[in-house]
Amino acid sequence: MAYAINDSCVNCGACAAECPVNAISQGDTQFVIDADTCIDCGNCANVCPVGAPAEA
Ligand code: SF4
Ligand code: SF4
Repeated sequence: MAYAINDSCVNCGACAAECPVNAISQGDTQFVIDADTCIDCGNCANVCPVGAPAEA
């Protein structure tokens, strides 16, 4: 399992700062999660102001 960021992301960067394994980076239009690196901790979902990250 891994988290994924949906298209409601507003590019605030809060999730990337809280990811313990640096799985989150800024993509072309929004932040994205590397599913192979994500350890499913949920930090990104907890800090996101718009609820964009969710288990995928
Ligand atoms: Fe990083 Fe945790 Fe979010 Fe996965 S669930 S992207 S490990 S903060
Ligand atoms: Fe996008 Fe939410 Fe991450 Fe901010 S915290 S960059 S809105 S996914």
